[in-house]
Amino acid sequence: MSILVQKFGGTSVADSNKILAAARRAIRAQQQGNQVVVVVSAMGKNTDVLIDLAHEISESPPAREMDMLLSTGEQVSVALMAMAIDSLGYQAISMTGAQIGIRTDSTHTKARIHSISTERLRRALDAGKIVIAAGFQGIDEESNITTLGRGGSDTTAVALAAVLGAACEIYTDVDGVYTTDPRVLPEARRVRQISYDEMLELASLGAGVMHSRSIEFAKKFSVPIHVRSSFSDIPGTMIVAESESPGQAVSGATLVKSEARVTILGAPDRPGTSLAIFSKIAAKNISVDMIVQNIGSDARADISFTVPRDELPATLQAVTEAVHELGAEGYTQDENVSKVSVVGLGMATQTGVAQKMFRALAGTGANILAITTSEIKISVLVSREQGLPALRTVHGTFALETEPAGARQTTYEAARHANGDASAVVARLQGMEDLTISDIRLDETQARVTISDVPDTPGLAAAVFEQIAEGGIFVDMIVQSFGRHGRANLSFTVPQAAFDKAVSLSQEIARRLNCGAVTSSARVAKLSVSGIGMRSHTGVAIRMFQALAGAGINLEMINTSEVRVNVVVDGAAGHQALKRLQDAFADVLG
Ligand code: ADP
Ligand code: ASP
Ligand code: MG
Repeated sequence: MSILVQKFGGTSVADSNKILAAARRAIRAQQQGNQVVVVVSAMGKNTDVLIDLAHEISESPPAREMDMLLSTGEQVSVALMAMAIDSLGYQAISMTGAQIGIRTDSTHTKARIHSISTERLRRALDAGKIVIAAGFQGIDEESNITTLGRGGSDTTAVALAAVLGAACEIYTDVDGVYTTDPRVLPEARRVRQISYDEMLELASLGAGVMHSRSIEFAKKFSVPIHVRSSFSDIPGTMIVAESESPGQAVSGATLVKSEARVTILGAPDRPGTSLAIFSKIAAKNISVDMIVQNIGSDARADISFTVPRDELPATLQAVTEAVHELGAEGYTQDENVSKVSVVGLGMATQTGVAQKMFRALAGTGANILAITTSEIKISVLVSREQGLPALRTVHGTFALETEPAGARQTTYEAARHANGDASAVVARLQGMEDLTISDIRLDETQARVTISDVPDTPGLAAAVFEQIAEGGIFVDMIVQSFGRHGRANLSFTVPQAAFDKAVSLSQEIARRLNCGAVTSSARVAKLSVSGIGMRSHTGVAIRMFQALAGAGINLEMINTSEVRVNVVVDGAAGHQALKRLQDAFADVLG
């Protein structure tokens, strides 16, 4: 019999009527011939209420006690949901994370799942019961209650679907995944289907509709997800392997309103600097994004990155130590920045996507404070007040409100049957959330160009990349560092065959736009480590930095995304760097 996991978020179980409505859905699914597992979140905003309460008592409540407290929210809703099903004349049993057998590590408030034992769950299902599982929680080795991080019920649901070989329905207060948060931009469009990779990036770049770690599971175990409304029956969005429309460069956009930018000033430009900084931050379990460096002329570099604003105080503790240890000049911070990103599988093969985004932003007068790109995303940092207009502009520029030609939607039935591999279940139980690296690659076909001292004003990036595009050159990585004294560095990689042309075009641009020197390297090595959960496993970039620093290899460019970390190093060091990385990740190369 097929198994279906249905997850109901906070708003979907906010009061008794809604709980009864959710119970009826679960019963209907069972009557249609499924074994049904229901995962529920805490009612309404209950988790927020509990957090506020904790902070009324203590400024920094112990993480273990926080988990003890927060897990009660879900315990209330599982019990009520089981009662609701019982009152409608059907059999149900509620279970806590511990009772389901969700084992996690001991990182309180951000725990990762180690394994799930499905025995008891399956027994209950075979006895004809609807199993109601508490989302968001597990237990560690010592039986301490842990939680998986805000929004973590999605991860419980998809993880259960993975180990049960089930399909997964996410019932929420929107009727699907939109091109951007529909509460922020009313013109956003509900997409029929989105790929795991796109959803992973969108979720990790701010699309709060899904917990990004749930998508890691979905991708790793090919779990089809159907995101849909609790309050209507219309088909929502399928999250599966393929994107909605193969030709589309951009499929979604996100805004993270509250980011903080930190710049370490005058750090020594030598192997090991990034490692020293980011290992200290990773030790506090903080994910950093948009790492960029501005190489100075005196063997010193400014290194900037962003973190979620509420993690700034903890980040600054680590930064203070790093500044001291490295003998850097100091640091600056800005708590009023926003990150706007676009994501799409199509941009990996299409030219001009970045330049179109930069031109549109220039048209609104938004000043781009920093840029990072990966194969399938482009992120820019802007001031906080420019965040929303920038999002709207970008959304319109890529016509995201209009359905692309050839938009497709995998039927739910087809997706469900695509995931029938029950024999792999046992293997799936161990190390579910461990890091898996799928690929380590050396690309020796690229060259780097850096335009230094680019005036930090609106329209500059657009002007540069328009000119490069006119030369018919495909630009791969782009990094614009955070400026100092109103000047920033703009680095990008191009195919070696286009190197001479790219350099002469850049020199022309530099003259015309009053920039500083153009430096370049005719042959660089780009190393990519691909896998799942690259950002949430904060240690990945660190391991790379460690391996390369250990061999005395200096990093020229860095970019990170949810599925890949790329670094550019000197061309002559490529093979040595590859070997180092292969050794460093040998234990997790899957
Ligand atoms: P739940 O409590 O059901 O888990 P969440 O609040 O976590 O619900 O997620 C649903 C919310 O996510 C929506 O109300 C919407 O405002 C927000 N959201 C952010 N980005 C998107 C997006 N791209 N598509 C749909 N909803 C989004
Ligand atoms: N109740 C938890 C939260 O509010 C988990 C969840 O809803 O997914 O973050
Ligand atoms: Mg949620």
